[in-house]
Amino acid sequence: MRVHITYTGGTIGMVDSPRGLVPGADLQGWLASLLKGTPLEHVVTVTPLVPLIDSSNATPLSWQAIVDDLRAHAADNPEAAFVVLHGTDTMAYTSAALSYALTDLTVPVVITGSQLPLRVLGSDAAANVTGALRAATSGRVDGVSLFFGHRLLAGNRATKSSSWAFTGFESPNTAPLAITGAPWQWAAPTPTGIGWRNAAPYARHDVIVVDLTPGITAARLEALLTPLPDAVILRAFGVGNIPSQEPGLPDIVEQVVTAGTAVIVTSQCHEAEVLLGRYEAGDALARSGAVGSRDMTLEAAYAKVQFLLSQGLRGGELARWMGRSIAGELRE
Ligand code: ASP
Repeated sequence: MRVHITYTGGTIGMVDSPRGLVPGADLQGWLASLLKGTPLEHVVTVTPLVPLIDSSNATPLSWQAIVDDLRAHAADNPEAAFVVLHGTDTMAYTSAALSYALTDLTVPVVITGSQLPLRVLGSDAAANVTGALRAATSGRVDGVSLFFGHRLLAGNRATKSSSWAFTGFESPNTAPLAITGAPWQWAAPTPTGIGWRNAAPYARHDVIVVDLTPGITAARLEALLTPLPDAVILRAFGVGNIPSQEPGLPDIVEQVVTAGTAVIVTSQCHEAEVLLGRYEAGDALARSGAVGSRDMTLEAAYAKVQFLLSQGLRGGELARWMGRSIAGELRE
């Protein structure tokens, strides 16, 4: 089996500079010594994307560059397995984005990175890369997953939960796909969603994420949404509640929806299932035409909105797709 690695940047290959960590390590040399004497020694190819980036600089165009590299190599090698090396900061956005764009690809794609650079003593880089390679070549996963800190997670269910711990990521609303050990513990396969044929490439759309806070006024919310973006993700409280008694605030949401901009309501809770209208404080949202993100993570919801906008969907049509599972990103 061949394995292709798309290297995008991130701490894993960074070195010190006078202005902080920057890409610059000899990742390919390190990888060659890591794999020497293993069954993967002569079967791995690597594409470093140019430029290598800190994932904080990623945009939907960066997601598309990874999709393009994966597709190009999958066309040459339909039997291959794929690993993406990525910074941890926005890895969960990228893994969700890849999952929507690649539903027609029948090869496994596993994304990983590390909290410490590969040359630092005690780094988690070797464990994460070998774990990702093992998962990708296991024959047990399809689609996009994320390997980090001894766990394999569904790529569109993961979220970065720690800026320092080697566990790094969690999938708060679903169980891990696998946990490493001797032997690895594998979970039963999860539903994959209805897929998307001939996905148009990601373009960069104007999507705002607004965190509601106790005391926010209608005027502030209106100012944040002016001019109107292509879509709004409203991070509300609990199951999707807002300060409904704040004068004029629910009306702002209704005006945005009426103007043809989709409003998607997510929760500020780490573990959440959005149920609009369960409380009076969320009822106005439900009646305004806003839609809840169910149990999607923020990263999965944001990448999905960018995906649907890139497919040409807007307003109510986009909102309806938010409730359907394209790649297993939510429980229907
Ligand atoms: N800032 C880095 C990045 O996301 C963090 C990391 O890789 O851990 O590229």
